[in-house]
Amino acid sequence: MAVPRSRISKSKKRSRSAHSALKPKGVSTCSNCQKTKRPHTICPYCGFYAKRAVISQKSAE
Ligand SMILES: [Zn+2]
Repeated sequence: MAVPRSRISKSKKRSRSAHSALKPKGVSTCSNCQKTKRPHTICPYCGFYAKRAVISQKSAE
């Protein structure tokens, strides 16, 4: 079994963790209502996906 040769210092651990920050999630626009949405998902505002209605919205405002 591998055993660490020496203790990792706070500085060494933190400087390694400097690269592990989370990146912001990707954003795309809806082809129907032009609002921002997550890519490869049905639009939560108008229910469109791939330029056609997948979910019919009950409350049309
Ligand atoms: Zn939409």
